[in-house]
Amino acid sequence: MKREIIFLEPAFKQVIWGGNKLGADFGYDIPGDNTGECWAISAHPKGDCKVISGQYAGMNLSRLWDKHRELFGNAKGDRYPLLIKIIDAKQDLSIQVHPDDKYAAEHENGSLGKTECWYVLDCDENAAVVIGHNARDKAELEKMIRGKHWGEFIREIPVHKGDFFQIEPGCLHAIKGGTLILETQQNSDITYRVYDYDRLQNGKPRELHIEQSIEVIKAPFEAAQCSRSVLRQDNMMIEKLVDCEYYSVEKIDVTGKALAEQKHSFLNVSMIGGAGRINGMEICKGKNFIIPARYGTMELDGDMSMIVSYTEEMEEKYDKTDNKNDAGKERKALSGRYMSSHGYCR
Ligand code: ZN
Repeated sequence: MKREIIFLEPAFKQVIWGGNKLGADFGYDIPGDNTGECWAISAHPKGDCKVISGQYAGMNLSRLWDKHRELFGNAKGDRYPLLIKIIDAKQDLSIQVHPDDKYAAEHENGSLGKTECWYVLDCDENAAVVIGHNARDKAELEKMIRGKHWGEFIREIPVHKGDFFQIEPGCLHAIKGGTLILETQQNSDITYRVYDYDRLQNGKPRELHIEQSIEVIKAPFEAAQCSRSVLRQDNMMIEKLVDCEYYSVEKIDVTGKALAEQKHSFLNVSMIGGAGRINGMEICKGKNFIIPARYGTMELDGDMSMIVSYTEEMEEKYDKTDNKNDAGKERKALSGRYMSSHGYCR
């Protein structure tokens, strides 16, 4: 028997900068026209996704991680390592920074730091994001922040559909209005807000964290290194977006039938376009699921795009006896990689 694919029910967040595209574009049943975030694959206590179907239906991802670690290749760690969000920024998000693991452990009750990355699903013409700043050193950074010299301080860059950005801890950043982004990040919610455009929420400005920000922001700014590479195989195009200490992220496009082996501890999959089938099950844009360890061969079929993330390779060797149905059939492994496909479910 093949292990089940774990389909998840997303959690939604209403925020002052949110919009309605998670409903209009992704087809989700959103709670209001200020829905900024879909926590698509999350075991975080502030938005712990529930399993939709199968033998684990109704269970939260955090509990599944605790009780059935075998589904995740017996990966180590006291919490699910990643958090996948789809973000609809109708207005600008606050200018912010995240600490690294060391700073967060010391100052935030043993929490994790946050490395995150953005895949731009869509954006308005002339949309921009904030990444980095223009201070030459820590002293100038402190002067610019305390003096509120935002125009001079903040480094804004234009953004286009399909762009990808890796945001390391200590990097000043903000998603700006008119962008729809899929974010893959460490499972952490520690954010230091530097500047919030003097906006009010329920009549009050949101809390700022000036001291922590000055401590945490690196100066001068250095752009994260990441080079995108593409692998074409059969009816799949696999684009590696980033490999870092915490995650690897790929965009996969499938046009037709394709086979791939699941060789990682587990795979997070978010469908970002089109539709199709995986091992006979219908999948389409907006679906989020986890392919468990030792799933074996993924049979993909359709016309679809997805963002896939994983942590490390599985330590134990992939064992064919777990997948008796496949015994004797030579499946082409994707040089240590995996999947994608295409179809119709709407
Ligand atoms: Zn962030």
